[in-house]
Amino acid sequence: MDSYRPRRLRRAALADGRVVDVVLDADTVGAVRPASDAPMAPDDLDLDGWLLLTAPADPHAHLDKALSWDAIQPPSGDLDRAIASWLAYFGQADEDEIHSRAMRTVERYLQNGTTAIRTHVDVPAEGDPTRAVRAVVRVREAFAGLVDIEIVALAGRDIDPLRVEEALAAGADLVGGAPHLAVDEEADLERLLQIAERRGVGVDFHADEALRRGSTLAHLARRTSDWSVTRTASHCVRLSMLDDAELEPLLADAARAGVGVIANPMTNLYLQGWDDPVATPRGIAPIRKLRAAGVVTAAGGDNVRDPFNPLGRADAFETAMLLVTAAHVSIAEAWDAVTASARAVMGLPPAGPETGRRADLLAVRGGSLADAIASAPADRIVISRGRVVARADTTRWIHPRSQKEDA
Ligand SMILES: [Zn+2]
Repeated sequence: MDSYRPRRLRRAALADGRVVDVVLDADTVGAVRPASDAPMAPDDLDLDGWLLLTAPADPHAHLDKALSWDAIQPPSGDLDRAIASWLAYFGQADEDEIHSRAMRTVERYLQNGTTAIRTHVDVPAEGDPTRAVRAVVRVREAFAGLVDIEIVALAGRDIDPLRVEEALAAGADLVGGAPHLAVDEEADLERLLQIAERRGVGVDFHADEALRRGSTLAHLARRTSDWSVTRTASHCVRLSMLDDAELEPLLADAARAGVGVIANPMTNLYLQGWDDPVATPRGIAPIRKLRAAGVVTAAGGDNVRDPFNPLGRADAFETAMLLVTAAHVSIAEAWDAVTASARAVMGLPPAGPETGRRADLLAVRGGSLADAIASAPADRIVISRGRVVARADTTRWIHPRSQKEDA
């Protein structure tokens, strides 16, 4: 079946309870009107019984690592163990192997409704610095027009800056790294910021991904407050451990500087807290406080079935569910973190079922947003830039128990 462009999405329910007809105009939502009783036209898509949402964006993924768990069979453990398991495998993974896993991962994302992904891609301190970037650039080309893919050059610790420049030349869009893992955090961060300055590109760092150390966010906010390109601090685990007296000035600085924050609930829950068996901290950035301080705050799925997280479905409903249960945000805030705020952090135009927005939409069988996040419906229709690009329709059967017992 080819992709196609419906002219009208008929009788769709929105998250606010309205039932509407959505008129599409090429890649944009042309109009949203109260549902009419007009008969189906040939280019209508009937969404009676479906909930129509903004298509999710995942602002923090690792496509080069995804789906490697089964091959690696790593031990369970914390961030250091995961890194060791991954590096031992990555050293022998060639471009085609990385490409194959990344392709399958983006297919999962798209099937689940995600039409934009920012992925970090390893740029190792030794060996070929760009093979993973090259692999993911090929994936981006394969999904061009279907999924917006941004690539962050994830610089290995204490790396030669020339290797990061090579990754940018090979197709990476942003400079990244994990300064909190370096011998000298501030020096490593400064080195990476200078590369971004030279090249005029944005940055997205793995920031303070530890419960009790790291000052990347503070330095990033101070150092880049006059930048105009995108700046993002991913993870910010340490923020979850600070009391308000320490937290509030830091969040005020981040808000003033325009630094966005991305929480990654599933990976943080898995990797953090191994040394705290009693009252184990969750390690998730304090999303409600970040939002209240005016920081654009999104959430990502991060790792999908790799040494950093053995599970994960590449599904925004999973991330949103964890935000509600483990980070105590409301249903609406959770969905915002994986849709509107995720797109804002990524610098993408707004999408969703509102007039004038990009027609990146996800329809699911369900009655409400809470119901959708709770049940992650299997039946989905994915619309990217006004085109239907993925669809899943399941058939169901259940044993007719009551009839049998009556018989
Ligand atoms: Zn990450």
